[in-house]
Amino acid sequence: MTAIGPDVAAHAIALRREIHRQPELGFEEEKTAALVERELDALGIEHRRVAGTGVVGVVRGALPGRVAGLRADMDALPLTERSGESFSSEVPGKMHACGHDAHTAMLLGAARVLQAEREHLHGSAVLLFQPAEEGPGGALPMIEAGAMDDPVIDAVVMLHVDPRLDTGTVGFIPGACNAAADEFHVTIEGRGGHGASPHTAIDAIPCAAATVLALQNIAAREIDPLKTIVVTIGTIEGGYRNNIIADRVTMSGTFRSQDDAIRRGLEARARRIVEGVAAAYGATGSLEVIYGYPAVINDATLAVTFREYMTAHSRIPVLSPPPTMGGEDFAYFAQRVPGLLIRHGIRSEAAGSVHPGHSPQFRVDEASLAYGIETLVTFARGVGLGVVHGSPSLP
Ligand SMILES: [Zn+2]
Ligand SMILES: [Zn+2]
Repeated sequence: MTAIGPDVAAHAIALRREIHRQPELGFEEEKTAALVERELDALGIEHRRVAGTGVVGVVRGALPGRVAGLRADMDALPLTERSGESFSSEVPGKMHACGHDAHTAMLLGAARVLQAEREHLHGSAVLLFQPAEEGPGGALPMIEAGAMDDPVIDAVVMLHVDPRLDTGTVGFIPGACNAAADEFHVTIEGRGGHGASPHTAIDAIPCAAATVLALQNIAAREIDPLKTIVVTIGTIEGGYRNNIIADRVTMSGTFRSQDDAIRRGLEARARRIVEGVAAAYGATGSLEVIYGYPAVINDATLAVTFREYMTAHSRIPVLSPPPTMGGEDFAYFAQRVPGLLIRHGIRSEAAGSVHPGHSPQFRVDEASLAYGIETLVTFARGVGLGVVHGSPSLP
């Protein structure tokens, strides 16, 4: 059971379905932002636009206290829905397959509860409705537009739906809870020729094969085995037909890492391998790295104080799920003030919410929304009181 009333939960579910039917990709969230503004207007909550389709609302408590930032992302994915839900996407090729519709609806539910109790509320809650989490990233543009500055946020939280955790539970851990996600591109240039005369050409294909295997050596032999990294080659393209020697192969992949020093060293390690293997084959190799979101680091003190506060003031079990190697641009909020990424349990065999995020069959157990709303509300209350706080910038 949660302490959230059935009316609040039912309204959040209705909003979630409305958002789910009209998914919008990053920085195109016009309908979603308008829905958020419509709901905040109905609640009498002040709000402003930032970064195009971002919306910042402020619930001002009547009593003095600190300021909690509550963040929800709003964007969908370029995917055709096959969930079988009655309220499936009405937009071909777009789907809320990562649960951001539920995140937005839960934050609106929390806004409703906090606004209703503002006469007794310590501090304020800043509602951060963020565009483009799936890329190119809306967190930094929101921060640069002053989303954390008026009022100044003391601690920030987000929920992300997680089908590993059962409905009715939430979970978080201190420290790195996901990974930096960086993209890389490799180009290998040889010299083309006849497939029957390899000695007259420089074949880019065996060089590419050797490069793929050698890049795995970074994870297997070059990094402390107690540190976690991933090197994945996702695409490989090259060649023309069976009897032509390929003059060129291109590959792309992703690096995932949690430790910042290791992350900063990956590009040089990969370049040494790409250029060195190519040289050994008489070809040339080049590498380009496109840096993405850093890892989310949950503030250790915030994690401890919020776990204690949740245990005292809520009946929702707080679990400690292991980290993932996914990426999340909430990291930028959590770099500036103590932050907490909370995994929000949605798993239910009965509701069919067992598929991973980004699957066309992805479902959210809507019974979970009340628990997420209660978690956000509890965070805002605890931060407002100063009982839930991070370190070292907060006492
Ligand atoms: Zn996602
Ligand atoms: Zn997501």
